[in-house]
Amino acid sequence: MRRRRHDPADDPVAPPGPSTIDLHAHTIRSDGVLEPAALVSAAAAVGVRLLAITDHDDLSAYRELVEPSGTPAVSDGLTLLPGVEINCLTGALPDLWESELHILGLGVDPTDESFETTLAEQRSRRRVRFDRTLARLRELGLSVDDVADQLDPDETAALGRPTIARLLQAKGYVTSVEDGFARYLGRGRPAYVPRDGIGPLEAIDAIRAAGGLAALAHFSEAAQRVPLVRELRDAGLGGLEVYYRSFDRETVASVGAVAAELDLVPTGGSDYHGDTGSYAEAHAALWVPPDVGDRLAAALGRRPTSTETGPSPA
Ligand SMILES: [Zn+2]
Ligand SMILES: [Zn+2]
Repeated sequence: MRRRRHDPADDPVAPPGPSTIDLHAHTIRSDGVLEPAALVSAAAAVGVRLLAITDHDDLSAYRELVEPSGTPAVSDGLTLLPGVEINCLTGALPDLWESELHILGLGVDPTDESFETTLAEQRSRRRVRFDRTLARLRELGLSVDDVADQLDPDETAALGRPTIARLLQAKGYVTSVEDGFARYLGRGRPAYVPRDGIGPLEAIDAIRAAGGLAALAHFSEAAQRVPLVRELRDAGLGGLEVYYRSFDRETVASVGAVAAELDLVPTGGSDYHGDTGSYAEAHAALWVPPDVGDRLAAALGRRPTSTETGPSPA
């Protein structure tokens, strides 16, 4: 969930054809609505050939789709890339939406134990925030405890505010997830509880150590914040999400110019959660050029893993 600086309806991106790439999507293992297998099927059905599921702080969707039978991460002609999204705190940086930057980890090693430890810590902080938010809602006379108790354990690994917004909606307290954020859950609203967790530099380090490409997600103000993006690039950021579904053409152009200037891989994705329509509808508004896959593969190929970063035995 994010604030939109531009309304893409003003100047929408007209996809020249169906995108074969989506490097940003959520399942019910974090705050999306689809089961992992359902997301993969929906993406394959509309022509996606390279998909990264980027649940918040959680790789379980990838693991359950790929590991049980040891089958390769390819099905129906679709290659699944392991991914995560880490919402990073930026305490000292002014004027950022909710004082956060969101960093995608694309192509991380799902068996990296140190990375999994980092993600598990992030998830437990999410649980604490979730419980504190429910307590605030209770104080406000808006208890959602009964519907929260009915959540499937699979839905509670990487809890997010959209989950709570859906509980509020189920109880009839709000009309939509967006309404839930606007009235209760957004920053400055009565049930807002600040996040606790790692910052962008820690996230970039962790993603790189796990062999992944760290990409800054949906940062529409990149052109106005080039020194910040450069600082992240110098710290190991390797990509910038240029082809974001909700960006209008002007924003795609301005963020793309920053990616080119700083030699960052221009990634792209739908950020599909499922609250406002089907995957096919989201995909119809997405345009990620096919060469993004080649750029990403090249970057991942040369991305040092944790074991390769030490001094070479001379
Ligand atoms: Zn995000
Ligand atoms: Zn996202």
